[in-house]
Amino acid sequence: MAQFHILSRDYRDSRFAHLENRVPGTAVPPAVCLKCGEDLAPSPIGEDAVYSIDGSKPGDLLSDGISIAVSTRFAEAYRQSELTGLEIRESPLRLSDSTARFFLAIPKATCAKLDESASGVVVHQVRGCSFCRIISIDKIDRAVIDVNSWSGEDIFCCGNLFSEIIASQRFVDFIARNRFSNFKFVRAEELCFDYRA
Ligand SMILES: [Zn+2]
Repeated sequence: MAQFHILSRDYRDSRFAHLENRVPGTAVPPAVCLKCGEDLAPSPIGEDAVYSIDGSKPGDLLSDGISIAVSTRFAEAYRQSELTGLEIRESPLRLSDSTARFFLAIPKATCAKLDESASGVVVHQVRGCSFCRIISIDKIDRAVIDVNSWSGEDIFCCGNLFSEIIASQRFVDFIARNRFSNFKFVRAEELCFDYRA
């Protein structure tokens, strides 16, 4: 059975640097559902956005909690790998306080879906159609991806787990094999929250 992981963007306890967005930049329209036209993911940030990084040492992943950026070493290794799903921008991230080279990386917005009943999902609001199932969630007990709805991307977003970044076991193994720093994953079956409390 395919194993999935959620890429954590909570780096409060990380010893590596985090990003801060200084100038918002022009949002790029996200991919939409081909059936209903609803946004499949939050809008990716534009090339003109400006960030700063705090004083600590940057790892191979930088995040402000929303966007992610990757090091040159990661970008080169990813491009040589057979992994799919990540768009790595060609031009470096604009950093106001550093000459370090990082690249914004945008996971593919897909129509893969959670098995909502196996995941124990309580729906807050439905925005999409039955094809994309774009929803907001009040509660989830675990993330169970319906593998029949997944096109095999190694890193991706999906409509009914809106704004989370999902990674395949292959992606997690690639991070470990290359010893890329500051990536933190939560096993999909361990993702849980309840906003109703
Ligand atoms: Zn739709």
